[in-house]
Amino acid sequence: MKGNYDILIVGAGTAGVYFGWQMALRGHSVCIVERSKRENVGKRLEVFHIDSIKFSEFQVPPPEETSPEFFCKFDTGLFYAPDGSCQKEVTYPFHVMSLPLFLQRMFELAEEAGVHFEFETSFESLVLKSGKIKGAEVKHQNEIWKIEAGLLVDASGINAHVRSQLPQDYGIETFEPGPNEKFYVVLRYIKWLGTDYPKIQYTKSWSFYKTWLAPSTDESRAIIGVGATGSYDHGEEVLKDFFNTIELPPYEIERFERGVTPFRRPPYSFVSDGFLCLGDAACLTKPFSGEGVTAAWKLCQIAADVVDNALKSGQLLSAEALWDINVQYYRNQGAKFAGILSTVPSAANTSKKENHYMFRKDIVFSSEDFTDMNRDFEMHLSMGKILKIVFNLISGVLTGNYSLASLKAMLKSVTISGKVRQHYENYPNTPKEFHSWMLVADTLWKQANAEMA
Ligand SMILES: Cc1cc2nc3c(=O)[nH]c(=O)nc-3n(C[C@H](O)[C@H](O)[C@H](O)COP(=O)(O)OP(=O)(O)OC[C@H]3O[C@@H](n4cnc5c(N)ncnc54)[C@H](O)[C@@H]3O)c2cc1C
Repeated sequence: MKGNYDILIVGAGTAGVYFGWQMALRGHSVCIVERSKRENVGKRLEVFHIDSIKFSEFQVPPPEETSPEFFCKFDTGLFYAPDGSCQKEVTYPFHVMSLPLFLQRMFELAEEAGVHFEFETSFESLVLKSGKIKGAEVKHQNEIWKIEAGLLVDASGINAHVRSQLPQDYGIETFEPGPNEKFYVVLRYIKWLGTDYPKIQYTKSWSFYKTWLAPSTDESRAIIGVGATGSYDHGEEVLKDFFNTIELPPYEIERFERGVTPFRRPPYSFVSDGFLCLGDAACLTKPFSGEGVTAAWKLCQIAADVVDNALKSGQLLSAEALWDINVQYYRNQGAKFAGILSTVPSAANTSKKENHYMFRKDIVFSSEDFTDMNRDFEMHLSMGKILKIVFNLISGVLTGNYSLASLKAMLKSVTISGKVRQHYENYPNTPKEFHSWMLVADTLWKQANAEMA
């Protein structure tokens, strides 16, 4: 027996440490177990990008601009048509930072608030009493420790080491994302050759190839990245197609990096008796970019308030006591993400020519739409704008730039997307109505995914 805490968190990545910190700030006892050494956490990713406006939304102090954690900041991004011939500007500032150094700073903030860390300690198994979670067994070097807690939190990343071990009837899906439900991200850290390089202080994205060029550690360096479903090989193929079409100034590759991020709907419930899942373990990434850090903080923030209220009113952290986490998340950000994700299969089926036409005619998207999507996770479409899109789509079919089959698929997908979003906005108030809600959700997702066939 190693201790008894209000909250035991598995994983000290951006989701686990943020949630632990927030709970400790609210006065609760928190232990975080992390399998890596303290100095190695987050080293899988040298550089990451974070939306600048999210620091204040989530009360995370931004880095000092003179610190080694901070690389640069950019205010705009450019999106390109498939052949690179036209571009649109998105106004949405991002910070470019070191993930390992950011996490080291977060560990200190969490410790100041009272979080207890156990590094080099991995989750082994659940501790159950009368079928309910009461903590976990963890392994530190060759010792097995039992840690008891009112709430066990899975923040262990994409493999969801805890959620995937839950009993099948525990009220949460135990899936691990399959190959087509992950983004295989392939990165090349490059250094521009000569002095005539683009001095990138913004991202450039080619949505058709899911490829981007982003600022890196200094202005003579950049990161070329691609995210593709299925496999790393598929990512490399997409990148090859990109390099054959888009010409970049000369550069040398300094480093390769690879990783996976979830690209599927999250479990229908994040909570059950004494249990919560967060971050990649809950498949919480932005469906249009695969970025997961701030997307997950939204769920963490909601969860921190709900758990705090339940603990302060002396409630056991049962599924009922935690249910409002699902309700608050799914009726807002979750509904928007679900609506966007359900359009992906049909969007993925458009040809390069069609994609080019849509880009040129502002069908998906205008500069304003790109900005709205990043900031609000939705586009603000007036009737005039909708009519213009419809007109351009019909013209596209008449002029041979857009096929009738793609038009039909798009209309079907927009209809299903609206239904999916509305269904999540009506997320059930209590676990009692959950089963029937889930059956309808399953049907809608099947309809959305049928577009892929
Ligand atoms: C190549 C790449 C680039 C990306 N770039 C960005 C970006 O620029 N911006 C952005 O917002 N998102 C980005 N993402 C996505 C982002 O990295 C993730 O969504 C986010 O880091 C998930 O955080 P997390 O805390 O949920 O999981 P992780 O960061 O995976 O943390 C989980 C932690 O749990 C630990 N752990 C695992 N199993 C156990 C166990 N059994 N016991 C104890 N500890 C365990 C792990 O060691 C790890 O430290 C990128 C992803 C990839 C793959």
